[in-house]
Amino acid sequence: MKTIIEPFRIKSVEPIRMTSREEREQILRDAHFNVFGIKARDVLVDLLTDSGTGAMSSLQWSGMMRGDESYAGAESFYRFSDKMNELTGFDHILPTHQGRASERILFELVGGPGKVIPNNNHFDTTRANVEHSGARAVDLVIHEAKTPSLRHPFKGNMDVQRLRDLIVAEGVEKIPIVMVTVTNNSGGGQPVSLANLREVRAVCDEFGIPLFLDACRFAENAYFIKQREEGQGERTIREIVRDTFDLADGATISAKKDGMVNIGGVLLIRDPELAQRADALLILTEGFVTYGGLSGRDLEAMAQGFEEVVREDYLSYRIRSTEYLGERLLALGFQIIEPPGGHAIYVDAGKLCPGIPSWEFPGQALVCELYRQAGIRTVEIGSVMFGGGGNPPPLELVRFAIPRRVYTQSHIDYVVEACGELYERRDRIKGLKIVFEPPYLRHFSARFIELR
Ligand SMILES: *Cc1c(COP(=O)(O)O)cnc(C)c1O
Repeated sequence: MKTIIEPFRIKSVEPIRMTSREEREQILRDAHFNVFGIKARDVLVDLLTDSGTGAMSSLQWSGMMRGDESYAGAESFYRFSDKMNELTGFDHILPTHQGRASERILFELVGGPGKVIPNNNHFDTTRANVEHSGARAVDLVIHEAKTPSLRHPFKGNMDVQRLRDLIVAEGVEKIPIVMVTVTNNSGGGQPVSLANLREVRAVCDEFGIPLFLDACRFAENAYFIKQREEGQGERTIREIVRDTFDLADGATISAKKDGMVNIGGVLLIRDPELAQRADALLILTEGFVTYGGLSGRDLEAMAQGFEEVVREDYLSYRIRSTEYLGERLLALGFQIIEPPGGHAIYVDAGKLCPGIPSWEFPGQALVCELYRQAGIRTVEIGSVMFGGGGNPPPLELVRFAIPRRVYTQSHIDYVVEACGELYERRDRIKGLKIVFEPPYLRHFSARFIELR
């Protein structure tokens, strides 16, 4: 295989501040063993999230200079909505300040006590918004997704039989929408096939339930479809993206992912009556329908970001760089969610630290050790994020998310070296205990102490 090079060169750089292990030890304690509490200047390689952390292109930056800041009907809004219409075929396009704002509006409209929302896997903010409305969030990803070492080309697929069983068991009237997350972030950044989306659509049609996508990474998902799905290899990313959205009645999108911007979101709704109610809520809480809590320049950056993300040279570089990290960690002995996902690598911390039980948070323990060892910031996706409230213990994962167009291969090689050293001392990683937690999304602000 030929080296796939970054399809860009670097025009502007941001220095990284080096820290010593002793400094990091103190910083970690001051942050109560929660890396969300660490200042970004104290992080060497920040793999906390790929959300809003990407580098914008020169065309995105120049677009910001021509942002039309008119309150209503700004040019920038039309450039943004024309681009979204071109890619998705949707006519009713609402800008929001980020994905969870789209979610909050959607679930205020369709959620509520007694309602049940199926999804392959709800992302943390999606689950929180569903539950905040009083509804119940149910995850129906295929069973293969529960075994990290098991390889499946579309490990994000929804179990269509379980979806049907859920609808029959709960009753159609309790299920206002079905959601599918592409790619499946909480399930390892794994793609969903067009075939699976069509099957889900057929079940939705049979029961008359609308299908909504959580489409934050629709372009990465389309690239996997092109690579892996039968009959899709010769098609363009744009065609696959269009097919994906054609199957849906609506979508929530965080533009901080495949929109390649630092802030922004989208809400797409086909049904005119529901769209009108969404407009009203948007105006109430985000802003007028042509800016939705964003500035004109943000809309310009989104319009250009959505244009750049569907380019194949970008996507092949993007998916290959994530895969590279995954292959190297596997070779060191880490169990990751296989095959590597689109935007991130997920390490099975439960397997790495079998001596740490779920109530001592093996994922969080590994996150802390990675910071202490090498200044690398990752995030726990396990018992801290999804545990508590009587939920069964999930997989204990640590996510290494790759910001778009930010780090080079030597940054990633540094991460791999640090992981190699850490692997040798894995039996000395210490469990944690929660000493404070807030009522929602506790992983953002929980405090811990180290045990033993
Ligand atoms: C990031 C994300 C969200 C929420 O978007 P924000 O912009 O962070 O509010 C929702 N769903 C998925 C799958 C995501 O990755």
